[in-house]
Amino acid sequence: MTVPLLDLKAQYATIKDDVARAIASVVERQEFIMGREVGELETAVAALSQAKHGIGCASGTDAILLPLMALGLAPGDEVIAPSFTFFATAGTIHNAGGRPVFVDIDPITYCADPAAIEAAITPRTRAIIVVHLFGQMAAMERILAIAARHGLPVIEDGAQAIGARRQIDGTWRLAGELGWCGTFSFFPSKNLGGYGDGGMMVTQDDGLATRLRRLRLHGGAKQYHHEEVGTNSRLDTLQAAVLLAKLPYLAGWSAARRGRAARYAAAFAGHPDIRTPVVDGANEHIFHQYTLRVPRRDELMAHLKANGIGCAVYYPVGLHLQPCFADLGYRPGSLPETEQAMRDVVSLPVFPELTDAQVDRVVAAVKGFFG
Ligand SMILES: *Cc1c(COP(=O)(O)O)cnc(C)c1O
Repeated sequence: MTVPLLDLKAQYATIKDDVARAIASVVERQEFIMGREVGELETAVAALSQAKHGIGCASGTDAILLPLMALGLAPGDEVIAPSFTFFATAGTIHNAGGRPVFVDIDPITYCADPAAIEAAITPRTRAIIVVHLFGQMAAMERILAIAARHGLPVIEDGAQAIGARRQIDGTWRLAGELGWCGTFSFFPSKNLGGYGDGGMMVTQDDGLATRLRRLRLHGGAKQYHHEEVGTNSRLDTLQAAVLLAKLPYLAGWSAARRGRAARYAAAFAGHPDIRTPVVDGANEHIFHQYTLRVPRRDELMAHLKANGIGCAVYYPVGLHLQPCFADLGYRPGSLPETEQAMRDVVSLPVFPELTDAQVDRVVAAVKGFFG
């Protein structure tokens, strides 16, 4: 029995008819650009995030880039972001004309450490990006308090956390709800994945929503009239239609991921070499990834792969150590928790369609390796 890291064909088999109908409807109408499904998905994702506005765009990367463009960064302006994340979190800062300032993570949740964020603030800081990594939210209440003290906007990179929530003062708050702007990716492997690229921004701020709606259309809400310079970053109607067809299943898929995670946690409990993911007590995790920390990580991965089990390292190199950011002056040792995680994390299959037998097979292979 092989166990892939992700099995999108297994998911497709369960929703084939819904998706076929949705795609056919768009094709029949030939409404490929800004068709009605785009607006419907924007309304639905805003509601899911308890946000006032949803603005579709071409990718999860552009969902971060466009609010950064709205800030009008000048050379030397700094944006704080974690280093332990996907490249887009910081590549967008560079592309918006700013300078990334990397901070270390809380080693328990892998999200940015609030104290490190506060320590990194300078007179040049213009914004803070937090990443709700692997599907659980960062300590938003602490980060928002710091941001408010310094008058800084917070962008929530929620690419891995659509529908994740956190209890703050007794109330459930959704990923994307509390920041100046929340961002989502519909890359096919994300928890809500399209059949190509796509992204969404959510915000409570009417003025920002207006800016983002025109930045994605070359900076002009009215065709051929441009208030500012934007770009072409529309969400395809076809993608919106596929995503609308999939959206009713999302909560069930996230619950199934939690179920798979719970089965792993019970099986690995008390093992001396295996550290399972820790869910912050305030969070409901959506397990975009199920990530262990282990000694001899690379040997374990070779063993799993030899046994037909998919696994991967997110992320093998922190952004502060990427060659493209060498001129920022970070060195090995600059962000110790990020660098430790680079060495000992490994993600296991946790997709919703994974069977109990497949989970048990993965567990047996991991335990078999450590003896
Ligand atoms: C996937 C991802 C992105 C980028 O999304 P794309 O849709 O691939 O552009 C940004 N940030 C994080 C944390 C991601 O996981």
